[in-house]
Amino acid sequence: MARRRYWARSHLGWRTIAGATPNGGHVAVARLQRGGLVDAVITQNVDGLHTAAGSAPVVELHGRLDEVVCLDCGNRVGRQEVDRRLREANPFVAVFCGGGQPGW
Ligand SMILES: [Zn+2]
Repeated sequence: MARRRYWARSHLGWRTIAGATPNGGHVAVARLQRGGLVDAVITQNVDGLHTAAGSAPVVELHGRLDEVVCLDCGNRVGRQEVDRRLREANPFVAVFCGGGQPGW
């Protein structure tokens, strides 16, 4: 039940995360890193925006939302693909969230 609840909420929130872009803070940290003033970024963020801004290396303590790991076999799948599968399996979701693409 907890996993179903997680995926239902995560499915609805993914569109917001997927559309996020680095802000000035992410860019500033990346500049400090390129300038040799910061060795690495350690973050609890799961949005991948430090990497998108150009930081490297980035240690993501809680992983990333744009990649899904199968708990049975360890296979990794891009979140866009998981999102496509969830939309296909749950076309009724648009009724509740009021948005999404045709076919939701
Ligand atoms: Zn698997």
